[in-house]
Amino acid sequence: MSKISILAHTSQTFAEAVHAVLGKGYVHAGLVYEEFFRQGRIQGRNPAFNNAQALLSDILSLTDFSLPELIDKRHDGKTGKFLLKTADQLEIETVLIPMQSGGTLCVSSQVGCRMGCAFCETGRMGLLRNLTVEEVIRQVFVARHCLAFQFRNVVFMGMGEPFDNYDAVMQAVRILNDPKGFALGRRHVSVSTSGCVEGIDRLIDEGEYAPNLAVSINAPNDALRNRLMPINRTHDLQRLHQAMQRYCAETGREILIAYVLMKGQNDALDHADQLADYLQGLAVKVNLIPYNAQSRDRFAAPEPETLEAFAHRLRERGYYTLVRSTKGETIMAACGQLGNVKLRQQIRNGGLVHLH
Ligand code: SF4
Repeated sequence: MSKISILAHTSQTFAEAVHAVLGKGYVHAGLVYEEFFRQGRIQGRNPAFNNAQALLSDILSLTDFSLPELIDKRHDGKTGKFLLKTADQLEIETVLIPMQSGGTLCVSSQVGCRMGCAFCETGRMGLLRNLTVEEVIRQVFVARHCLAFQFRNVVFMGMGEPFDNYDAVMQAVRILNDPKGFALGRRHVSVSTSGCVEGIDRLIDEGEYAPNLAVSINAPNDALRNRLMPINRTHDLQRLHQAMQRYCAETGREILIAYVLMKGQNDALDHADQLADYLQGLAVKVNLIPYNAQSRDRFAAPEPETLEAFAHRLRERGYYTLVRSTKGETIMAACGQLGNVKLRQQIRNGGLVHLH
């Protein structure tokens, strides 16, 4: 009989799964779940187990608590990154961003990504596969309990397009929100998309359980966006705008707009004006991210004064605009830099097969 993977379940579905096998143990399974997520291990010291040692032992032997191998961790003084190895020898990358207001954990939803954004290291890998729920949650578990990283926010902005792995990502969000799981408030979990309209519509249907939405725009007109982000050829800016409008209207929530500025590509004041026009009618905050120039490709970081002028123009046009520093650039953990170079070489040499 296969074991029940505790990291793939909410407390309720875990308790139900245990009860379905043992015919009892619903309440005690919930206690095991809570202790594992809170303490990172099971000591069975809860008084509720004093007269239920046999039941505890049955629950433990039924449950899979396994964690992946931590194969690398790096820190550049500002940002951390760690790598976990999957059972099929792939690597999952996760970024730790300490902040004064509480840390942020940036998790991956896929190994690689099929979206092929021109400026993105992960996109160059292609998609190797979706992560399972356990593989997403293990990143959070390892950060909290193995690396003792204190975080208040989890963002799905690591490797992959989260809406391309929608069901696993949403189950992971439920576990993050579960009061007996990681107990993060709904406003502390964000999912970032490259503009997948169907995903935004599904998120609207989640109602009050929906996480925050972030959308990477990166280009304010279709011609440029088609070139930088191939998803735009099927989900163009107009369709995307309509989906974002539905999201704002039906959830009453704001969207975080991410815009990576690349020198000479999308950083002119005219682009800022086009972006301001495009965002009209939406409840948004804008996050400007200077391109990380260490990626050794045809794109370059904007000049600091260009970045400032771009931000200033958006603010003049009435948009709340943040300029993000490129934290993590020295350890390849900045936006668009997740993606294992060694793995890409293996793919090129025919050692690994893309799914698409
Ligand atoms: S930017 Fe995001 S969606 Fe685009 S290729 Fe990279 S990981 Fe995929």
